[in-house]
Amino acid sequence: MSTVPLSAAKEANKLTKILDIFHQAHGGFRYPVNVKELALQCADLFKWDDPISEVKAASIPGFDGGLFKDSDTKRWLLLYNQSVESQGRIRFTQAHELGHYILHRQAKETFQCSEEDMLNWDVEEKDIESQADKFASNLLMPLHDFREQITNTVDLDVLGFCAGRYGVSLTAAILRWLEHTDQKAVVVHSQDGYMNWSWSSQAALKAGAFFRTKRSPVPIPEASLAANSYIKLEKTGQTVSARIWFEHAEEITPLREMKVSSDRHDIVLSLLILPKSADVWEVRSPEWFARSKKG
Ligand SMILES: [Zn+2]
Repeated sequence: MSTVPLSAAKEANKLTKILDIFHQAHGGFRYPVNVKELALQCADLFKWDDPISEVKAASIPGFDGGLFKDSDTKRWLLLYNQSVESQGRIRFTQAHELGHYILHRQAKETFQCSEEDMLNWDVEEKDIESQADKFASNLLMPLHDFREQITNTVDLDVLGFCAGRYGVSLTAAILRWLEHTDQKAVVVHSQDGYMNWSWSSQAALKAGAFFRTKRSPVPIPEASLAANSYIKLEKTGQTVSARIWFEHAEEITPLREMKVSSDRHDIVLSLLILPKSADVWEVRSPEWFARSKKG
């Protein structure tokens, strides 16, 4: 293997092509991807001498998954946390660890990854965690197939169908859609009335539709569907004023708000979609520009 950093998407696509060809020839279920089987056969496929010899459930406190090399035998062990409730999250974790094996095993012999590492979908792929996430999302939800599932009006029914098809969490399916859509869409994960994290499509970012959740706690707007505890589920969406979520939006700009919630941890997942023509930046006066130039 060369020392040039490998592209996560390219490496995942190599496996996607192999799986496409295999299933065209032999039938069987193409989706969800059987990551365990693929991990065990990967070294054989590429003629590598340091295979993943075991994929095993384990209880690793604080970690969703790990990858460990036995230096004597040159064999790798892939572990995933069995106490994670969702099969979708387990599959994503396995694919994330397979990503480390393919992309990073020349650099490290031990990988331990947290739940947070599985949500590090940084577009610039600055670190190995975001690269492993990129690999996993491309492997589990290949774009050519994902695009075929998406209808004109995207809602949580459509994205929920995708989550089922690929055997991933609804969150992973939403993030995959946000990565490539030209719509202005934002996902917000909140708990007890505050945002845990939020992610915007590129078009939404350019229109000013994003939340800075890392700086300080951002409250969920009181008038939003997300804050309405009487409505637990709204998969196709309600149209509300965009100003509810974005203070600088025009009052008449509509926004389609969808939500799913889980009672147990008071968690709400919201999907916000703005019209393609919408812009929610603060309107800046000539005085503002004069002030910002000064200092
Ligand atoms: Zn990782």
